[in-house]
Amino acid sequence: MALQPAREVAPGVVLVDTGYIRPGLAASWIVRGRDGAAVIETGSARSVPRILEGLAAHGLGPEDVSHVVVTHVHLDHAGGAGALMRELPRAKLVAHPRGARHLVDPAKLAAGTMAVYGEERFRELYGELVPIPAERVVEAGDGFVIDLGARPLRFQDAPGHARHHFVVLDETSRGWFTGDTFGLSYRETDSAKGPFLFPTTTPVQFDPDALHATIDRMIAARPERMYLTHFGMLEGRIPEAAAQLHAQIDGHVARARAAPEGPTRHASLVAALGEQLLTSLEEHEAPVTREQALALFDTDLELNAQGLEVWLDAQANA
Ligand SMILES: [Zn+2]
Repeated sequence: MALQPAREVAPGVVLVDTGYIRPGLAASWIVRGRDGAAVIETGSARSVPRILEGLAAHGLGPEDVSHVVVTHVHLDHAGGAGALMRELPRAKLVAHPRGARHLVDPAKLAAGTMAVYGEERFRELYGELVPIPAERVVEAGDGFVIDLGARPLRFQDAPGHARHHFVVLDETSRGWFTGDTFGLSYRETDSAKGPFLFPTTTPVQFDPDALHATIDRMIAARPERMYLTHFGMLEGRIPEAAAQLHAQIDGHVARARAAPEGPTRHASLVAALGEQLLTSLEEHEAPVTREQALALFDTDLELNAQGLEVWLDAQANA
């Protein structure tokens, strides 16, 4: 898959491929109202030129952006927030009340991520985390609304993937910006049966009950579209997609519970999740080989296993 130019996928909604890791992996969205625009999700600091190009290609300058929104503070969503804010003189950064302080002072985020990836890989993926002045940060709790001019964006608390996660409803296009709460759906796995969905259970706050409830709350709003960070727009038959995702989450939980205790647990769980993935893709008649599927979901299987293990350990200690 090649890196595509930014394009309008619904009226006033532009999809920008941030180029994070590979094309078609991490999206940023531009939403345009009468009085300005919002950028939702920032990719990493390396994604900033792509987002500025996407704005320019749709007739928007840096001063037209009133809000930058990050659904949660994981770095594939918020790593570029500080660098992007430096380029957008008028913008406020809208963040979850549990995540906002980490964008004002990103030292803890950087340290946590470096512990996982190592410093070299961290620099390669994220460049520098730029702090955002506190006076430019707005915390958005449940029910918070920003209006871009006849275009309200409504925020809803959305725990499950992380406790510092919200989702955003664009009432104009009847679509949710889902961050990581509506799973992963790579376009390479689309088939005649529609999009394929797989959960993301990244460490360290995965909570399956909360995630199921968050998905149900989004569906209750009768959305017509879902804007996924990973990756792109799903349109139509959203309840069917949600049912698929609920089942996949249950499959993850069952495999986590069945994983053997002890030093082989991690490898067993990665293998079990890989089997779940391959079996489901086959049932979905997705046009990818086993090798292609495992390459597409390589990092996801690893992170999902890690996140499930953190959850299992927390259950055991509760
Ligand atoms: Zn993500």
